[in-house]
Amino acid sequence: MSPNVQSKLRFAGKTAIITGAGSGIGRAAAIQLAREGANVALFDLVNDRTSIVERKLNKMREGCALAVDVDTSDPARMEEAVRRTVEHFGGIDIVFANAGINGSIGPIEDLSVEDWQRTLSINLTGTFLSLKYTIPHLKARGKGSIIITSSINGNRRFTSFGWSPYSTTKAGQVAFAKMAALELAKFKVRVNVISPGAISTNIDETTEPIEELDAITIPIEFPEGQQPLADGPGKPEDVARLVAFLASDDSSHITGAQIVIDGAESLLT
Ligand code: NAD
Repeated sequence: MSPNVQSKLRFAGKTAIITGAGSGIGRAAAIQLAREGANVALFDLVNDRTSIVERKLNKMREGCALAVDVDTSDPARMEEAVRRTVEHFGGIDIVFANAGINGSIGPIEDLSVEDWQRTLSINLTGTFLSLKYTIPHLKARGKGSIIITSSINGNRRFTSFGWSPYSTTKAGQVAFAKMAALELAKFKVRVNVISPGAISTNIDETTEPIEELDAITIPIEFPEGQQPLADGPGKPEDVARLVAFLASDDSSHITGAQIVIDGAESLLT
């Protein structure tokens, strides 16, 4: 791409941190933002998937992607990962706090404290740390955009039996995003939260139902065509375009918003 074309792109000269960038929604967002000119730091647990995304993006535009091996729930590693990103790219403009797991699924009385804490640390503490360590750098730029991935679960839907840890983290992320939006508005840092419905990704690999789950499940018949706008789950790319909108100046007056992206699924079920 010629430097002339590159400089006209929406995210030219901007740097984004994307957590959970090795797969699914994070991966699609990394591709979308990089395609539109951003440098992207791909935060994920070390695995082939993240290095494959890194290679793909660097092939598209040399040097635009950096994979960082980090567990987002680990404060020391997150602080170091953010420091490395700033050293490498010179600053941060966009943070997509997206990494998450489904975690242990079961009756509350049968979930172990470790089950509960694991989901909370990755989904909720991971979100807190993603903001905690990047906010000083966003402020230093004079403006910025943070996007947090929540879910319709815990916000619009409560019929996923046994998902109390997950749903609690997803509800918590919405409150956290709104608190952060108000706190950061005077620094021109916007914070928005997105709540996807079913999206085709690898997230099911992280679902760990425990044996006792059947005891609390109330049979629910989901209507045919449960995603009325589509013929099935959404695609990660659908979510990535929303992330790009919220990351860009096209949404410059939007902060503290919760945007549901589910093809009307949660209105029906
Ligand atoms: P995914 O499993 O395809 O991708 C998630 C990525 O996060 C993976 O690459 C994984 O390695 C990474 N990750 C997990 N724990 C991590 C940790 N501790 N540190 C660093 N990286 C970690 O799943 P996805 O569907 O793309 O999920 C992204 C977000 O979207 C999650 O927060 C999830 O709760 C949310 N979400 C997904 C759906 C859906 O249907 N797929 C619906 C609503 C919300």
